Amino acid sequence: MIVVMKLEVSEEQISNVEEKLGEMGCRAHIIRGVERIVIGAVGNPKRDQAHVLELLPGVEKVVPVMAPYKLVSREVKGEKSCIDLGGGLRIGGEEVVVMAGPCAVENRESLHQTAEAVSKAGAQVLRGGAFKPRTSPYSFQGLEEEGLMYLSEAGEESGLKVVTEVINPQDVELVSRYADILQVGARNMQNYSLLRELGKQSRPVLLKRGLSATVEEWLMSAEYILAEGNEKVILCERGIRTFEGYTRNTLDLSAVPLVHSLSHLPVVVDPSHSSGDRRLVPSLSRAALAAGADGLLIEVHPQPEKAYCDGPQSLTPEGFADLMEDLERIAAACGRRVKKKAVLSPHGRGDER
Ligand code: PEP
Ligand code: MN
Repeated sequence: MIVVMKLEVSEEQISNVEEKLGEMGCRAHIIRGVERIVIGAVGNPKRDQAHVLELLPGVEKVVPVMAPYKLVSREVKGEKSCIDLGGGLRIGGEEVVVMAGPCAVENRESLHQTAEAVSKAGAQVLRGGAFKPRTSPYSFQGLEEEGLMYLSEAGEESGLKVVTEVINPQDVELVSRYADILQVGARNMQNYSLLRELGKQSRPVLLKRGLSATVEEWLMSAEYILAEGNEKVILCERGIRTFEGYTRNTLDLSAVPLVHSLSHLPVVVDPSHSSGDRRLVPSLSRAALAAGADGLLIEVHPQPEKAYCDGPQSLTPEGFADLMEDLERIAAACGRRVKKKAVLSPHGRGDER
């Protein structure tokens, strides 16, 4: 249930409600909206306890939340969340955030080259896996900490934030030393100990939809992170498994407006894993923006034919730059913006910020 506070409410009244919820065996989760404050009760409060709360000063009403997910739902927070990714970059607002880079970090040179190229084309975030969860145990598993170091260096040099995957709870601390956004891969969407650990730290989390997960299961996974205290969750639709064999997965584009109606969290689309085919990536990216996606996660490799993994779905830097031009036009038609603004550097040349 949620406790809706009156418009004029004091900090003391909020603490009172928190205390009362504690006595009822629930954790209070305070959501400070633009208009008013609501307090989500995390746990299993009894229905008949609601009237006790309603008698407390400062409380307007107590509302049961019907959806099985609570803190991620629109019932608890009506306005969309705009998540701070650091350095003034936010996701969930007017600006569409494009995250781009190789599937896996392979070596320093290739990563720097890719980072420079995607930054120049207008991306805001560099992607790349240092821990690769592969279907086969014999495939390249990633450079691990060495890869994280390259990512953080390349991000810094090209002015990009960094998103990378963390695959087990013990590595959360390590990965968060190097990355700005922590990614949960599709295969780990229901790794609840990982989700809980990510909920206990403060970096934003990019939560991919599981290979065969329903929207409800996906939102329940996000709930694990919010329930531990971290509200910075970005949902990523990356295609689901269907009977169709021509594409690697089937992009569930309906999930974008659907999730926006069910949850206040931002939603991004990964057209690369959704299709497995670089020829389909531009159309799917354009469609994702038109459907209201808050961002895109796109694989780009300087030489896709030589990529350690996912070459067939990786765009070349040139292909990515062309796509960014298109996306800017689509975003403008939807009342949004894509590319980061070019600013004049102290050296007088047009630089990207
Ligand atoms: C990735 O984005 O690097 C990745 C492994 O994707 P997914 O978890 O969606 O398969
Ligand atoms: Mn990949």
